[in-house]
Amino acid sequence: MRVPLFATSLEPHLPAIADRLGEVAASGKYILGPEVEAFEREFADYTGARHCIGVANGTEAISIALRAAGVERGDEVVVPSFTFYATAEAVAAIGAVPVFCDVEADTMCVSARTVETALTERTKAIVPVHLFGCVAPVAELRRFGLPLIEDAAQAAGAERDGARAGALGDAATFSFFPSKNLPCLGDGGAITTSDDDLAAGARRLRFHGSEDKATFTEVGYNSRLDSLQAAVLRTLLPELDGWTAARGEVAAAYDAEGLGDHVAPPHVPDGVRHAYHLYVARHDDAEELREALAGHGVAARGYYRVPVHRQPAMAPYAPDGLELPVTDELARTHLALPMGPELERDQVREVVAACASGST
Ligand SMILES: *Cc1c(COP(=O)(O)O)cnc(C)c1O
Repeated sequence: MRVPLFATSLEPHLPAIADRLGEVAASGKYILGPEVEAFEREFADYTGARHCIGVANGTEAISIALRAAGVERGDEVVVPSFTFYATAEAVAAIGAVPVFCDVEADTMCVSARTVETALTERTKAIVPVHLFGCVAPVAELRRFGLPLIEDAAQAAGAERDGARAGALGDAATFSFFPSKNLPCLGDGGAITTSDDDLAAGARRLRFHGSEDKATFTEVGYNSRLDSLQAAVLRTLLPELDGWTAARGEVAAAYDAEGLGDHVAPPHVPDGVRHAYHLYVARHDDAEELREALAGHGVAARGYYRVPVHRQPAMAPYAPDGLELPVTDELARTHLALPMGPELERDQVREVVAACASGST
């Protein structure tokens, strides 16, 4: 493909990463310790939350954050169906019940309107997902009086009304999977929160449910962020704002080159700094367009063609008659187009030209 889906490169940062990894390797401290603590401080400061707890991945981050927020077996947790599968899987994995809600057609995120229909007396938490890097309207979900756990796996660096993703809900969860906006060289994740009790609970749960490594007060997880991955993240965190700005410039270039004449570009609500984890447009014949783009050397991809509530493993949580019309429509029409800090203006023009000839 002349224009790849992900225009990112860690190449310029590899020497600095290698130096840092060498230092950690020589230190002999591989599990938690100073490198993880330093990253936790730096990432908490970055998001504006008081605490950061490094964990093994973004999926366990959700399970642990929910349990630390008091969600128990059998409790209901409202999640969107239009998201990566792990959002709902992490709820089911703790024995809680994912209850699927719809999303708004323009933002592709949940809202108070879409969440409300899924609430019952058994609802114990809501997981708004900042899908593709757009920030869900967390503040308007406060009216329900329930713990709000942001799934910010796709939104490191995003903001809403002057606050960063990670500091909007009662807690937030991040993934540092290599394709995410703040990547590590493998699996990694984090929970951010300004709630001292929730932070202490999450810290216990990631270490076998123990505070002192001698007394085990609950059944937890072995889910720690590796010190080596923390070293990678400390090297790359200072790049995140520049990358996010560059992604925003690519989105502005798509607008300026007239992409909106051929597809519906992502909508950015007032007050949102979009992180453009993916640049997801909508088109009525998304798969035909994808094939036409491939013919022009332009990569594109539909990520969630089968929404989560229609996945086989979620059948027990998808009651007969569950209707999520916007989710079904977006599943059919969404299409991720090339994005990344390294995408050049002439590549943007190629994408737009390919959409022009493929979308008629
Ligand atoms: C990537 C992702 C996760 C899971 O993160 P892992 O680190 O892969 O476990 C959860 N939710 C969303 C929305 C994601 O994009």
